[in-house]
Amino acid sequence: MLGLMQDQPLLISGLIDFAERHHADVEIVSRRVEGDIHRYTYKDAAGRSRQVANALDAMGLQFSDRVATLAWNGYRHFELYYGVSGSGRVLHTINPRLHPDQIAWIANHAEDQVLCFDMSFLPLVQAVHARCSTIRQYVALCDADKLPADTGIPGLVSYEAWIGQQPSSYHWPSFDENSASSMCYTSGTTGNPKAALYSHRSTTLHAYAAALPDVMSLSARDAVLPVVPMFHVNAWGIPYSASLTGAKLVFPGPALDGKSIYELIEAEKVTYAAGVPTVWQMLLGHMKPAGLKFSTLKRTVIGGSACPPAMIAAFNDDYGVEVLHAWGMTEMSPLGTLCTLKNKHQSLPDAEKMKIRLKQGRSIFGVDMKIVDAEGVELPWDGKTYGDLHVRGPWVVREYFKGEGGSPLVNGWFPTGDVATIDADGFMQITDRSKDVIKSGGEWISSIDVENIAVAHPAVAMAACIGVAHPKWDERPIVAVVKKPGAEVTREELLKFYEGKTAKWQIPDDVVFVDAIPIGATGKMLKTKLRELLKDYKLPA
Ligand code: ADP
Repeated sequence: MLGLMQDQPLLISGLIDFAERHHADVEIVSRRVEGDIHRYTYKDAAGRSRQVANALDAMGLQFSDRVATLAWNGYRHFELYYGVSGSGRVLHTINPRLHPDQIAWIANHAEDQVLCFDMSFLPLVQAVHARCSTIRQYVALCDADKLPADTGIPGLVSYEAWIGQQPSSYHWPSFDENSASSMCYTSGTTGNPKAALYSHRSTTLHAYAAALPDVMSLSARDAVLPVVPMFHVNAWGIPYSASLTGAKLVFPGPALDGKSIYELIEAEKVTYAAGVPTVWQMLLGHMKPAGLKFSTLKRTVIGGSACPPAMIAAFNDDYGVEVLHAWGMTEMSPLGTLCTLKNKHQSLPDAEKMKIRLKQGRSIFGVDMKIVDAEGVELPWDGKTYGDLHVRGPWVVREYFKGEGGSPLVNGWFPTGDVATIDADGFMQITDRSKDVIKSGGEWISSIDVENIAVAHPAVAMAACIGVAHPKWDERPIVAVVKKPGAEVTREELLKFYEGKTAKWQIPDDVVFVDAIPIGATGKMLKTKLRELLKDYKLPA
């Protein structure tokens, strides 16, 4: 016997319809590429999303055709999120920080038909357009009068002229909720990038889950600032969850420096922000010397790479901001776990609570996880045993776009490439990327642990730990360190700083001071590059 409830597909257009009907006057505020602040409402955004849909219809774009973006977080990008997917096309957000060759490769692989780009990326588009064979319309995300006369890009139109001729009425089509809605290529640190292809169903379920109190806890009382880019894994789903809850949206545009972010948080009364650790490092770096405080910010989700304990402590102790450590990946839409305490943890002393907060957190309903050994045998949840982390669920990939790389699943589970422990309460902690873990004398050393201790030293701005070949132990850890401006610390002082904080054999063999640590397109340390830079390095005898 089937249930007798209405059968309505979960479609992305439903989210913007809902926001328009129930939160029409709620603001969406954007810092634009031009530097000024733009503000309008969900009602305005919904109307303009429908204009986008009409513009795509007018071009004769078919169901599932790809529309690409090279854009910062802003209101026009938000309209494309809804106009493209809502009308049945697939939004392909391209990461502009990728190498131009990779961008051209991705656009061809995705068979993009339209490319909408912010004017900051005009030189990039000029460099690659001749190689993008499937794109038939280029759209510059600007006013008509801001479009330079001779860009060399054939048929380039301004976004405002492109949608300006279109009506704001449109009937969103209804179709199978399993239809593709958007796509995102993984960073491709090894081999060519592969694309996760999200569906309307997976995106809507993820939007519901992301808003839950123990996840991002988004509500109509929040003003949310996604610093995480809309060009990579859908800004952790915030553009969807915000419409679902009616939260005010604040988009930072291209200005991600500490000063600009701080000013936006204060001016727009942001209660909630989400970003990778490197961005928050810039924010705290701006605030501390100037003695600044937050007046409205309550929570921040930090993920994408391990959040150093020193950062969690600084937000909590110095600024009264709760840090929610999160873990996920492109293949998971992206959210997998979030770290919020359980009821029984409330009465623990602060130091004990901190130990839990450092973990990447508990599974969200919809993400099932396990750790396994090299033979695929499931390992115990004791908080000590580490193994390969596997996941499954309705917003985890089944396979990549065009079947690239074959079937990634192992007995129905997706191997994340992360090594982790899970404790008896279900809190998962990432030990390392499996390719970054340091294998020393049959034991594993977590590069994350080594880095976390280094960045707790007051003179250290950034630290990256890599393994170096060793005749006796296979590999030994060394740590590359960037000092804070004007701060001093010696190799010996730093090695001494490790004593008592970790097992002796886990203390790195050496400290190498560097000017900068290479950062990849998604704000993570590029250890492959660092290893290349240090290829002539020799361990001290
Ligand atoms: P995203 O950009 O959303 O982080 P990617 O697919 O580029 O997605 O990268 C996913 C990988 O990033 C994970 O497999 C994991 O190695 C790492 N990662 C993400 N969040 C964390 C975290 N909180 N702690 C440690 N590593 C993390």
